[in-house]
Amino acid sequence: MSEPAQKSFPTSARVVIVGGGVMGCGVAYHLAHEGWTDIVLLEKAELTSGSTWHAAGQITHSTSSFALGKCVDYNIGLYSGALEAETGQSVTWYGCGSFRLAYSEDEMDWLRHTLSVGRTLGFNIELVGPERVAELHPFYNLEGVIGALNTPDDGHVDPSGITQALATGARQLGARIIRRCRATDIKQLDSGEWKVFTEQGDITCEHVVNAGGT
Ligand SMILES: Cc1cc2nc3c(=O)[nH]c(=O)nc-3n(C[C@H](O)[C@H](O)[C@H](O)COP(=O)(O)OP(=O)(O)OC[C@H]3O[C@@H](n4cnc5c(N)ncnc54)[C@H](O)[C@@H]3O)c2cc1C
Repeated sequence: MSEPAQKSFPTSARVVIVGGGVMGCGVAYHLAHEGWTDIVLLEKAELTSGSTWHAAGQITHSTSSFALGKCVDYNIGLYSGALEAETGQSVTWYGCGSFRLAYSEDEMDWLRHTLSVGRTLGFNIELVGPERVAELHPFYNLEGVIGALNTPDDGHVDPSGITQALATGARQLGARIIRRCRATDIKQLDSGEWKVFTEQGDITCEHVVNAGGT
């Protein structure tokens, strides 16, 4: 149900987040955990009604960037138990592990690079030949495969469940989430604060986060 505009619509907040996908709800959850609980999140439709709803939800340790690798590793911890335990909201984590296959020497170079990033970050990651893939996953078509990265701690989640769980966690710490409320404009005031114009009223805030997706 959308919140009644007349009575309780907030006129100020420390942070206004525009967009209730995994990004907006994730920002709300993590800001709230950092003690920034005076948050209003605006969603023009329903939570997870953007790209998040369509995502496959694959989470992998196979990444070529240290920063992304650290994020993914943190996510695996959060999604595989901590978030569900905190909020009571199921996220359907399925820790199936995964392979990343190489069909050429160039792709093998990329896997070696990814391996070095993963090892430096302490991930459970190994470079294996096709025979090991066949052993672990007999249904793979390995024609042309010359090597693979095996990342056993990978998994997949229901992205909607994750988003709802992050929203629940944020709400539990005091964040307000207002659905069916489109942000229509954002202007900076002389004071340096921001005014977010919405379908239900205006909110003055210190920070605006645009998590409206693509
Ligand atoms: C088919 C598919 C498969 C994918 N698979 C994976 C995967 O396996 N792993 C992975 O990590 N990623 C995957 N992704 C990518 C992932 O889905 C996106 O990166 C992620 O969902 C983006 O989240 P978001 O919160 O930025 O955007 P969105 O989920 O699009 O959220 C934006 C929200 O903002 C709202 N909004 C927009 N404008 C306004 C406004 N003016 N006022 C109020 N609200 C507004 C929208 O209604 C929407 O709910 C996949 C994506 C697709 C499409």
